[in-house]
Amino acid sequence: MRFDVLTIFPAFFEGFLAYGIVRRACQRRQVGIGIHNLRDWTYDRHQVVDDRPYGGEDGMVLKPEPIFRAVEALTHRQPNPSVVLLTPQGRPFDQTVAQHLSRQSQVVLICGRYEGVDERVAEHLATEEISIGDYVLSGGEPAAMVVMDAVIRLLPEVLGNPTSAQKESFQAGRLDYPVYTRPAVYRGHAVPAELLTGNHAEIELWRRRAALRKTLRYRPDLLTDQTRLDETDRRLLTELLRANAAGQPMTCHSSS
Ligand code: SAH
Repeated sequence: MRFDVLTIFPAFFEGFLAYGIVRRACQRRQVGIGIHNLRDWTYDRHQVVDDRPYGGEDGMVLKPEPIFRAVEALTHRQPNPSVVLLTPQGRPFDQTVAQHLSRQSQVVLICGRYEGVDERVAEHLATEEISIGDYVLSGGEPAAMVVMDAVIRLLPEVLGNPTSAQKESFQAGRLDYPVYTRPAVYRGHAVPAELLTGNHAEIELWRRRAALRKTLRYRPDLLTDQTRLDETDRRLLTELLRANAAGQPMTCHSSS
């Protein structure tokens, strides 16, 4: 798949493209990423991309013309491009939206700045508006990186092990399990004994219980739709809730 990012600060993305999974996926051509300077689609001498808002108020608004021109130029060969406006007013970004985007052949990401983007871009150019969370950033660039990173790791072959992405947080209707590495005891804090047994069935059960405990603690909202859990998780959750109601402690170290 291919991403095309429209921004007034292309250099913002240098570090993002230079490291880790994203860099490797680009090198292996599992994803193509184009970073485009919005000013390249202005025709005036000062390459103006913003203007004052109609109706008054402080701040500036990104003008529609360079954005329309840029998106049309970048997508003219693509029959159904996804054109995403990043905005706090959009649909909340989550793993389901990431999966949806990972199945598209081209995604254009429009990064706003200042007070935002002329609404005609949302109304007549973007195919979707996406927010990365209920807070306001000063620009869409960090949001574009969040979206690309989450989508790229879902592309087939990008993570070395194809099952890795499937078992991560949110994929199975709950958070992922906690992980530990050496040393086995650090500052008096021991790694859960179950993980050191070498017994795969026991380790798997511990991981599932620990994942469900963590989800209950921090994201109980994820567990309201239990149809997304598999049968073992549903059974373990019922046990945990019963134990909880009976007043037993819900630590990750309990083997019950
Ligand atoms: N006045 C706007 C915020 C503008 S912030 C409002 O209150 O709704 C400037 C730009 O940052 C936006 O155009 C958008 O591209 C980006 N941005 C800010 N918060 C964001 C978020 N939560 N998700 C995605 N993009 C965001």
